[in-house]
Amino acid sequence: MPHIVVADPIHPDGMERLFSTPGVTVDHPGTAAGRPLAERLRGADGLIVRGTVVDDALLAHADRLRVVCRHGVGYDLVDVPALTARGIALMITPEANAASVAEHALMLMLSLARRVVPVSTGVRRGEWRVKGESPTFDVAGRTVLVIGFGRIGTRVSRLCAAFGMRVLVHDPYIPAGTIRGAGFEAVVERDAGLAAADIVTVHVPSNDRTRKMVNESFLAAMKPGAILLNTARGTLVDEPALVAALTSGHVAAAGVDVLTVEPMVEPVPLVGLDNVIVTPHVAASTAQGLQRMAVHSAANVLDFLDGKVDRDAVINTEVLAASRNK
Ligand code: NAD
Repeated sequence: MPHIVVADPIHPDGMERLFSTPGVTVDHPGTAAGRPLAERLRGADGLIVRGTVVDDALLAHADRLRVVCRHGVGYDLVDVPALTARGIALMITPEANAASVAEHALMLMLSLARRVVPVSTGVRRGEWRVKGESPTFDVAGRTVLVIGFGRIGTRVSRLCAAFGMRVLVHDPYIPAGTIRGAGFEAVVERDAGLAAADIVTVHVPSNDRTRKMVNESFLAAMKPGAILLNTARGTLVDEPALVAALTSGHVAAAGVDVLTVEPMVEPVPLVGLDNVIVTPHVAASTAQGLQRMAVHSAANVLDFLDGKVDRDAVINTEVLAASRNK
């Protein structure tokens, strides 16, 4: 009888999917009664995680685990080689939150363009309209550089095009013809795109190659007065370098959903700047996004344990080949 551990709270529809599957037992935060996850993992066949770190030390307690599903798409908190070495598959929920994150990126862009936060705060203080010249701008006619043309970046590109923007795309792993075929301008040299863009939006995974990619030289290559959006991962950004660029005005403003260290325990310099909007890693967490991620996570684990593997959702597919060859 498959036993599934849900490490973190997930949407009730995902739990219902697990509870209603005959022959499956479920251990979840509501029944854990403070027991450490390492202990709960003994005898588990499947594991669903949201913000939990999955490392080698934790996996040492997993005596029969076959699949881990990360609720979402970023898996930088999971030690993939450690899972692969143990023959455990890592799955994600690929399409569940892409539209939610793309909308959030556009929300940050439009909020910064129209200075919604300071203007709204001013009205609450009794200030009606800012006197003199308005520093707001139309996004129509502006140029956006989308870095990373995956599930989220493609959607952001389409939304930006719908707003009448010129859309440049930089993704060294996607053929230029594919980007052009989708109706956008492919930029091979990243810095050429940075120099041309009024708005830069980042949609790449955080890994050894991309960590701190938004560093001093990236920021210096940006057009003076441009805006940076980061709804991907805080670790992609050298935060002190971004604070310096925002303080000097070289980067006019930033909209970020993610910070280098999460959760934020006390305010960091970036969030204290007036030209920054920060949201607490909630881009994917709409009602629909949370529901889809939970239901897809449950389905991924149940189907995997039933031998019906959705290969598109598996990260370390070499594990599947190894288990077939056994
Ligand atoms: P994806 O895997 O579909 O797309 C990532 C794209 O980035 C790929 O096309 C890849 O080729 C490209 N890429 C990799 N390295 C690059 C580089 N150096 N320069 C340019 N492009 C590069 O992933 P996705 O579903 O679009 O998600 C993107 C990221 O967004 C995730 O990895 C995750 O970190 C983040 N995310 C954040 C939230 C949130 O709540 N804020 C939610 C979901 C995803």
